Amino acid sequence: MSKEIICDFCGSKDSETNPVIAGDNAFICKACVSAAYEIMTGSHPEDEDNSYLENIETPKEIKLRTPSQLKEILDDYIIGQHRAKKVLSVAVYNHYKRIFRKDEIDDDTEISKSNVLLIGPTGSGKTLLAQTIAKYLDVPLAIADATSLTEAGYVGDDVENVITRLLQAANGDVKKAETGIIFIDEVDKVARMSENRSITRDVSGEGVQQALLKIVEGSVVNVPPKGGRKHPGQDAIQVDTTNILFICGGAFDGLEEIVKKKQGANVLGFNQKKNGNKEEKDLISNVEAHDLVKYGLIPELIGRLHMIATLNEISEDDMVHILTEPKNALIKQYIKLFELDNVKLEFEKDALKEIAKLALERKTGARGLRSILEDIMLDIMYDLPEYENKTVTITKDVVTKKKEPKIA
Ligand code: ADP
Repeated sequence: MSKEIICDFCGSKDSETNPVIAGDNAFICKACVSAAYEIMTGSHPEDEDNSYLENIETPKEIKLRTPSQLKEILDDYIIGQHRAKKVLSVAVYNHYKRIFRKDEIDDDTEISKSNVLLIGPTGSGKTLLAQTIAKYLDVPLAIADATSLTEAGYVGDDVENVITRLLQAANGDVKKAETGIIFIDEVDKVARMSENRSITRDVSGEGVQQALLKIVEGSVVNVPPKGGRKHPGQDAIQVDTTNILFICGGAFDGLEEIVKKKQGANVLGFNQKKNGNKEEKDLISNVEAHDLVKYGLIPELIGRLHMIATLNEISEDDMVHILTEPKNALIKQYIKLFELDNVKLEFEKDALKEIAKLALERKTGARGLRSILEDIMLDIMYDLPEYENKTVTITKDVVTKKKEPKIA
């Protein structure tokens, strides 16, 4: 006859809502575990958000795609920036090949990690590149801003917290987190002061770079399971960052001056001015590691960011393409939203151009498009149910003069 399982502390029977777990010589129920936890730590286990530690799955092997297949995916979502897409596709391909096919290398050649540095103005698609590739590969992604990071022990976000965020994105699955992607934006803002630039910046920038270097080059980081401050009652989780792909991004304002000087060009020369933007763009694409050292990044960190790609500023034409072409383009989303109410939505070409112009004025790249469009569409959406079975056309005047759309 099997013995009934009951909790040795409170006598509760084993049930679905209050399961009893067995030790070698004793039994304890879930409620008593909670009570014991509360007595020992002073807080209730349910108060601590450890939910991401549940449902731990073993990682599926990431299916390797060729660089051209990866770039095709990026092309579906990101307009232009072909060089950056190519660089990222190759880096990602090499990265996962290095991890998953290392057994096929029969000598002791060690392939080093190719982390990526994306240089480009705000709103040009740097974060979007990282997000798209991570989503497609189904690997966890953590995004952090270098300016919010501090050296360990200072007030702010420890660099280790970025790893905690990645662990959260991986639902607590350490193995999955260890092959994830970390995007660190605004690395240019933690450049140390350099003799070439007059901008005063916090010398602690170098400390942040050193801390970043530690995780980028690969180390075992002890992270508190919940993030935030380390807690004596909490067991730290060890995460090895060796196989995490790091993508760093930054605008690097003023970098073109450094490249120009290196090339001996006359900074204020007449020809330079005449050629304007095009010249600047070409200059920045010639950036090399030692230009970044001059800018104020530490050589050791740059040495770990092997693949450097530059992104162009978004032009007016690109803005129109961004509005209409990517798989989840904003205009496509609005058209679908209207369709659900049996309303056909159209945008005149001039209207799209005006929206692009407004976004350019904001100087936040393509980031501004969404709020501009939301502002234009609000009143129309408010009246949407009245337009059933009709066609609503957004004209230039709707954008510039807040006029009513054409209804037919
Ligand atoms: P940043 O370069 O500052 O990281 P983001 O990638 O965050 O810029 O871009 C902000 C938003 O602008 C994106 O979410 C996306 O909607 C849009 N965007 C920016 N660049 C592009 C691009 N090249 N193609 C498509 N959308 C873009």
